[in-house]
Amino acid sequence: MSTVLRFVTHRIISHPAGEVTVSAQCLDADCGWTAGPVADVARVDVDCMSHTGRTGHPTFARKYEDVALVSPVGP
Ligand SMILES: [Zn+2]
Repeated sequence: MSTVLRFVTHRIISHPAGEVTVSAQCLDADCGWTAGPVADVARVDVDCMSHTGRTGHPTFARKYEDVALVSPVGP
């Protein structure tokens, strides 16, 4: 009995039917403010700027998330 191992090249893309979502978290100590996750990236940007305007907190951790699709390349 023998085993044949064949290496196949793959590619990874964002799933065409998926959407990117974004969330943000204020990094000011003890604040805890968060936005999202939502698909409207511009909305989270505006929310962050509004938060800075109200509080003076200028730094945020933003996370972008998508659905990945892996498929073989070639014959
Ligand atoms: Zn804050």
